[in-house]
Amino acid sequence: TRVLGIETSCDETAASVVERGADGQPRILSSVVLSQIEEHAAFGGVVPEIAARAHVEALDGVIEAALMEAGVTLDEVDAIAATAGPGLIGGLIVGVTMAKAIAAAKNKPFLPINHLEGHALTARLTDHVDFPFLLLLVSGGHTQILHVAGLGKYERWGTTIDDALGEAFDKTAKLLSLPYPGGPNVEKAAAQGDPKRFAFPRPMKGEARLDFSFSGLKTAVRRAATELAPLSQQDIADICASFQKAVTETLSDRVARSLERFQTLHPEIAEPHLVVAGGVAANQAIRTELDRLCREHGFTLIAPPMKLCGDNAAMIAWVAVEQLDAGLAEPDSMAFAPRPRWPLDQSSAPVFGAGK
Ligand code: ATP
Ligand code: MG
Ligand code: FE
Repeated sequence: TRVLGIETSCDETAASVVERGADGQPRILSSVVLSQIEEHAAFGGVVPEIAARAHVEALDGVIEAALMEAGVTLDEVDAIAATAGPGLIGGLIVGVTMAKAIAAAKNKPFLPINHLEGHALTARLTDHVDFPFLLLLVSGGHTQILHVAGLGKYERWGTTIDDALGEAFDKTAKLLSLPYPGGPNVEKAAAQGDPKRFAFPRPMKGEARLDFSFSGLKTAVRRAATELAPLSQQDIADICASFQKAVTETLSDRVARSLERFQTLHPEIAEPHLVVAGGVAANQAIRTELDRLCREHGFTLIAPPMKLCGDNAAMIAWVAVEQLDAGLAEPDSMAFAPRPRWPLDQSSAPVFGAGK
């Protein structure tokens, strides 16, 4: 099964060809990602209107490059998949319309894919991870703990009640006048800082429910930055290090409880997996702490390779491969309209599908 995937939900224009060969092994034949960072940097964040326009301009070339790199033609793929949500509506329309047009012209199926499901199943593309597994999804728009029982079977155990973790990194960066995108720059600054200088809050730590809250942390960062202004390089590094430490400890507390809950639910699984996915999964400090926690609890941590943490189309093509192979593809897909909001626990697969 071989699929062309398209991703345009935010500020990356991406296309990829992924297949599951006769040997059952997944293979990424190509993965082209064109980032719009430069278009948005001057504004300190993604501007939806600019993003949509940039997708329109770039998508043709990106798809062509992905096919060329893979060495296949459109006749040699089984289906066309595109991110149909969640994300910025302009970008979603560009990607979905393009995928539907190609699908119609080539008489192949079109598969509308949930972007979060792409992040969620990347681990099955790159590593051998069986269902069920525990998923920590930490991205620009989401912070969730999910029990992944099977393809299309996502049960949300916890979520953020305010900001997403990636958003907290980005806002902290902005407060400190670090360049966009914030996450990598906060991590870089933190490496030179003292994580003990500021006692930032560990929101919801110790609570039984598995939710997150990061807006109080953001407020504490703002207060520290305001009190110290003008900030020296060392002040900035110390704030970043203290922020990252607070975030890591908060995640660790919530995840530890989730690992225990997973073990209680699945005592039969000898080697359970924790998968971390989404852009924030690129953070080394967070990876290191999750890895330590997993060892302590008898879990194996699976984190995607760096280039598959952020947005890409290989993850979208891969979900389509999984759905096709399982016979779970959306039946009436040409009528499927993009969904700016589309929770993973109401994903496309019929089992949990909306009203089907
Ligand atoms: P979603 O997937 O929720 O729809 P998104 O697609 O915009 O949102 P991703 O592309 O998955 O999000 O991730 C981008 C986020 O990851 C940004 O908020 C960015 O700051 C953050 N990020 C990237 N690298 C790092 C890092 N090294 N440390 C912390 N955060 C990071
Ligand atoms: Mg992005
Ligand atoms: Fe994403």
